[in-house]
Amino acid sequence: MKLLLEQLCEQAGVEVHLHTRVCAALRSPGNRLDCVVTESKSGREAFCAKTFVDCTGDGDLAASAGCQFDLGHPETGRTQPMSLMALVAGLSAEEAAGYYRDDDARAWASPKDKLREAMESGGHSPSYAKPRSFICTTICSR
Ligand SMILES: Cc1cc2nc3c(=O)[nH]c(=O)nc-3n(C[C@H](O)[C@H](O)[C@H](O)COP(=O)(O)OP(=O)(O)OC[C@H]3O[C@@H](n4cnc5c(N)ncnc54)[C@H](O)[C@@H]3O)c2cc1C
Repeated sequence: MKLLLEQLCEQAGVEVHLHTRVCAALRSPGNRLDCVVTESKSGREAFCAKTFVDCTGDGDLAASAGCQFDLGHPETGRTQPMSLMALVAGLSAEEAAGYYRDDDARAWASPKDKLREAMESGGHSPSYAKPRSFICTTICSR
């Protein structure tokens, strides 16, 4: 997918700057966004354009440009917890049996509930009600 998207960008004449972060927005007096400032291994650069599309996921560019935004629940301010992913090594498939879905036809509910119970028995109460685990069959030798 990464290669395909890059090819499509290339075909469309898009100039891609990898590992480059938008760090500031420059506005004209009429509150129009004129240029973005970036930082990368190439140093600090500015890109000016008529139109910008903010694809930062968190609206970084819009926020830097002074746009208003809402964050969290209107009453409590709480936000959805970040998804956390972890890699657990040193377990055999047999030891982890029952904690992951080993059969496409089998429902997810049981392994998820077992995993949650195991986490709770260790004193951790995950905010995500249905944590899940996947088995990786690639064997890495030490
Ligand atoms: C663990 C996990 C599992 C998920 N599972 C699902 C799922 O199963 N189904 C589903 O529909 N959604 C899922 N989501 C949500 C989904 O990934 C997001 O909603 C989606 O990726 C948002 O796309 P986006 O293009 O808006 O932002 P993103 O994919 O977050 O892309 C933003 C890009 O901007 C870059 N960036 C950020 N700040 C700057 C900056 N200042 N300057 C330059 N670049 C910047 C980032 O590096 C990133 O490459 C999941 C998310 C997580 C974390």
